[in-house]
Amino acid sequence: MSVDTQRFDMREVILDRIATILQDVYEESIQEYSETYITAKLAFKSDPQLNELRLALERINRGEYGRCIFCKGDIDHDLLMRSPTAHFCEQCANVLRYRTTAQA
Ligand SMILES: [Zn+2]
Repeated sequence: MSVDTQRFDMREVILDRIATILQDVYEESIQEYSETYITAKLAFKSDPQLNELRLALERINRGEYGRCIFCKGDIDHDLLMRSPTAHFCEQCANVLRYRTTAQA
């Protein structure tokens, strides 16, 4: 599978998650699954989960999706499938998790 195909798939996955939250939490009726339509619906919502998803879409558009924002390494595809808004690779996520736990 090419990288472009993966990005395309993730965009669908993310748009679908956003649409689900908008419907379930905000009782919006979603007429189309296009990015323009769905991001317009997000405009005035300050939901942290929606915000994460919106940022993931922005990373796709910038061609940065799937790259760790910490070490710039590739994020494991399985991890992205489990958690599409992941922006750390597993290694960095573990380090950060360890630090957070150690400080608490
Ligand atoms: Zn990393």
